[in-house]
Parts: sequence; structure tokens; C-alpha cells
Amino acid sequence: MYKIPFNRPALVGKELEYMTQAIERGHISGDGPFTRQCHTLFEETLGVARALLTTSCTHALDMSAILLNIQPGDEVIVPAFTFVSTVNAFVMRGAHPVFVDIRPDTLNLDERQIETYITPRTKAVVVVHYAGVGCEMDVITQIADRHGVAVVEDNAHGLFGKYKGRFLGTLGCMATQSFHETKNFTCGEGGALLINDPQYIERAEIVREKGTDRSRFFRGQVDKYTWTDVGSSYLPSEILAAFLYAQLERREAIQDARRRIWEYYYEHLADWASERDVCLPLVPAYCEQPYHMFYLLLPSLKQRQSLIKHLGERGILGVFHYLPLHLSNMGRRFGGKAGDCPVTEDVSDRLLRLPFYSHLTVDNQTLIVDVIKKLTE
Ligand SMILES: *Cc1c(COP(=O)(O)O)cnc(C)c1O
Repeated sequence: MYKIPFNRPALVGKELEYMTQAIERGHISGDGPFTRQCHTLFEETLGVARALLTTSCTHALDMSAILLNIQPGDEVIVPAFTFVSTVNAFVMRGAHPVFVDIRPDTLNLDERQIETYITPRTKAVVVVHYAGVGCEMDVITQIADRHGVAVVEDNAHGLFGKYKGRFLGTLGCMATQSFHETKNFTCGEGGALLINDPQYIERAEIVREKGTDRSRFFRGQVDKYTWTDVGSSYLPSEILAAFLYAQLERREAIQDARRRIWEYYYEHLADWASERDVCLPLVPAYCEQPYHMFYLLLPSLKQRQSLIKHLGERGILGVFHYLPLHLSNMGRRFGGKAGDCPVTEDVSDRLLRLPFYSHLTVDNQTLIVDVIKKLTE
């Protein structure tokens, strides 16, 4: 056990009260009052046309691939530096993933490289706002529009973040969120699909309800519900929605706490970092980040590994992040090879994430910063 883990979930508001309420109301399957409250909150605060809770971000991504009618042989442009689900959702429909490198500064999909990878078979570009810092969405959506290609935002890190004043998750035709334990807002396992292009709404409701028009039935638009399309069971239990809603209600407090944690690391490590060629996260002035993570880019793999070990010996868990997807066993089956995405390959070796959760104390942060500085004195 680590004295200071990398992540630790916590109750931040009325989670237990709301879960009890859901049970007492006698509705713990999906799409009850708490689910609707979560949907409304996202639709009103973000301004998306439709929000649908799902069982995970992975499942929301699966839904996006179904909604975009991804077929065998289609190509989907993805960053090489991301979580497997960003890509797997499309591969499961038979798509060929085209791995594109990331920018060395924000670690986001390098928009300057996208166009050279577009072919007549390209159906979608999936972007990940790494650490909740927005990708260059103006450029990306322009390129995509020019070629008739859909943009999906895997916004697992970026809920309530902004790009040029606009919320992340509202910039592609749809976006996916995660409420996994490690994200800013959680219910253990959970997600959401945010739909911006209204043409996908009706089918999304059907796909999420096992391919039936059950949602229309509950709205009284049809008198019985039936099998109308492919689909699966992508809706979470009300118990989870109750937990999540309690967290979302406290979003300002959570975001404030996370901002303070991020700023503490930044202020106390900036000088140390610049003296040792360590890079801290870069946030362009027009991006408002939701303070999802704090990372260091060490000068070498060796230095990264020794810092992980040194922190670990003092009970602090620092962790690396994504391994280059194009070099994984699956990625190689799609033709990925060393050297394809040099920035991804380099960054993956040198990146270290520090403990980050909303109730991380200043005492613990002081200790973490001291330990880091001692190793490198
Ligand atoms: C966490 C994460 C996911 C997966 O989220 P789940 O809710 O666990 O399925 C997908 N993409 C990114 C970028 C993530 O960080």
C-alpha cells in the first residue's frame, strides 16, 4: 500500500443519500430521475443537443462507431498516444486505425499531420484532449469538413474544460465522457455520450436501449416498443446515476480543489524543472483546462524510472501513462512499427504523472515536492 496513492475516490456530497433515495423510490434500473437530472445538467451547462449516460466511456465510443456506420475497411484517424478504447471501438466495427503522432507541447493529436493521412476511405477523426487541454479544434474541424469526415471527441479527461471559450465535448459531431474512478467526476464505472449533431439523437437512444425504440415508447410516441436496429445495453443503473449526480452537483468545489492542487505542483516545481530540463504541462492561453492531471516530462527514460522508484520508496505512487498504441501487439497487426510516431514513442518513455485527487492535502503535496527535489539535488 502506498501512503500517497495515485488516485483515491471520495464522497464529495450527497452520494449515499441519493443512492438511498433511488432505492427507496423503487427505481434502480436505468433512465430514472437521477439519470434524467444528469442528462439535463449536461445539456444545460454544456449546451449539447442530447446527453446520454452510458456504462462507460468505452461504451459511449462503441456507440459513436455504430452511429457513424463504421464498416469493415473504413479508416479512422486516431492519436497513437491514447487509451485503447479510443481505437478499439472503431476496430470492433472492422475499421482500420490510422495512427497519427502527437504534438510535443500539448501531447494532443498533431493537427498539422492529419490531412496527409486522409484517404477516400477515411470516415472519422477521433481526438483526445489530453489532460483536458483542448486539441487545435478549429484546424481539425476545418480539415474534417473539407473532406466530409466526422470528428468524435474522446473527452474522458476534459469535462468542463474549454477551447476558445467553447466547452470541450461540444466541438465534434459527438463526444464521449468517462466517470471511471480515476476521472474528475466518478461513479466507479460510467460514461456519457454527448451528441451535438441532432441527426444522431434518435438512433443513439435506440442503440443504447438494445436496438429497441423503448425511449419513444416511454415518451408515449409509440404504443409498444420493438426491435428496430442493432444495439446493446448501454444504460447505467440509477444507483450509479445517483452517485454521479451528487458529484456533478459539487462540480465547482471539485474543480476548485483540483485547480489548487495543479497550481501548487506547478508553482513549486517550475524553477526546479527549468533547471533540469524537465517539462511541465503546457496549456495554451485560449484553453481552460479542467485540471485532470499533473505530469512531468523527464529528460530520459532512465530518469523517469529512477524517479518512480524513488517516490515509491517513500510511499508515493507516481505512474507513467499510455504506451504507444501503434507498437502494441494489436497496433502492429495494423502495420504499426517503431519510428512511425516518434513524439509518442519519446513522450511515452519520459512522462510521469503525480498523485492527483481532489482531497490530496497540501501536506502530502509538500512531501511529494520535497521528495522529487531531493532525488535530483
Ligand atoms: C479513461 C479513458 C477512457 C475509458 O474510459 P472508461 O469509462 O473506463 O471506459 C477512454 N479514453 C480515454 C482518453 C480515457 O482517459
